[in-house]
Amino acid sequence: MSVLSIQNITKKYPGIIAVNDLSLEVEKGNIYGILGPNGSGKTTTLGIVLGITRADAGSFEWFEGKLGHKPNMQIGCLLETPNFYPYMTARKNLEIVAHIKKDQNPRIEELLELVNLNQRADSKFRTYSLGMKQRLAIAAAMVGDPEVLIFDEPTNGLDPEGIAEVRETINKISQRGKTILMASHILAEVEKICSHVAILKKGKLLASGTVGMILTADKLIEISSDNIEALKNMLSNIQGIKSVDEEKGYLIVTLPEDGISAMQMNKLAFQNDITLSRLIERKRSLESEFLEITRNA
Ligand code: ATP
Repeated sequence: MSVLSIQNITKKYPGIIAVNDLSLEVEKGNIYGILGPNGSGKTTTLGIVLGITRADAGSFEWFEGKLGHKPNMQIGCLLETPNFYPYMTARKNLEIVAHIKKDQNPRIEELLELVNLNQRADSKFRTYSLGMKQRLAIAAAMVGDPEVLIFDEPTNGLDPEGIAEVRETINKISQRGKTILMASHILAEVEKICSHVAILKKGKLLASGTVGMILTADKLIEISSDNIEALKNMLSNIQGIKSVDEEKGYLIVTLPEDGISAMQMNKLAFQNDITLSRLIERKRSLESEFLEITRNA
């Protein structure tokens, strides 16, 4: 089921196109990462689908149109550093959030446990570490049991331990069947947390799909001959091949980054009396330069 469908959204600010003709499909249960360096349009995109920012062009639809355009109780979000009452406990703060969200029957204990704050539930918010504050904010986003959670840079400013705890919390939420849409500028984070990713650069979508497909460092070799069976047989004897997929008239061989090269494959084919009619080594789908930007960010 489609949870969010974005079609050709564009948002311009004076002198800049913050989001440029963006289309995305988020399915139920996805942990969808929007990955891009600072200023690539991630927050603007989240603002648009939350109804906070108006797009200049394009459209989006939540839950196949069943809820209209206004995000409601089915969407919980954490957009910036959370504000809670510093002199109140975590538990009391969550009760206030539940009151504001008109949740008559909030499962505060369950939420505290989910974000691993049950031991500290009666400490005042101001005594919390940044990581604990962030996890309380995640609990607050979960009040009302929404179907979708939206997080903007959920691990920003946290130390490695805090990051690991937020990651674990997001995983637990996902295991409950929730759909998660999160923005991040850190490739490694998206790789670890997300099932799907959309990569933005200057508001434009560079690539989108499953994390396995998009962020892989694997290389692909397209290969063909008039004797496909002999070719398959040859490939079956090569070590390290991850997969061989048959396309119309040719094979796509997936290999690790340091796997056999196209040239070596050509040589092998020659030795096996196979004449190749196609041999293309495909680069990674993303500019390695861009991956470096996000990897080091
Ligand atoms: P960051 O991680 O730094 O927040 P981002 O990927 O979330 O980056 P956005 O905040 O969406 O990027 O910003 C995209 C571009 O739009 C940036 O160049 C930003 O300066 C610009 N922008 C965003 N909001 C406004 C605004 N209200 N007025 C003018 N320009 C804006």
